[in-house]
Amino acid sequence: MKTKDNVFSNSDITVTFNPCACIHSDHCAKELSSVFQDSVIPWIDLEGSSDKKIIQQVKKCPSGALQFHYNKEDREVA
Ligand code: SF4
Repeated sequence: MKTKDNVFSNSDITVTFNPCACIHSDHCAKELSSVFQDSVIPWIDLEGSSDKKIIQQVKKCPSGALQFHYNKEDREVA
């Protein structure tokens, strides 16, 4: 898994986190703790669940701090 500051990728998807937008509702850490681990760095582990479950959880982020895209979108643009 590639990890930059607040950018997390596996072979298929990239999840980004905007700390300025996060309202610390803890939806992510409570509902999918195998991926969103608030006591570990890097705190998002994309190997912790399926892409489908991760995407579902990202979509539930109430602030929009979590976003995702498919990596193939990057390749099409490049
Ligand atoms: S669900 Fe979104 S707003 Fe809530 S803690 Fe996670 S990143 Fe922050």
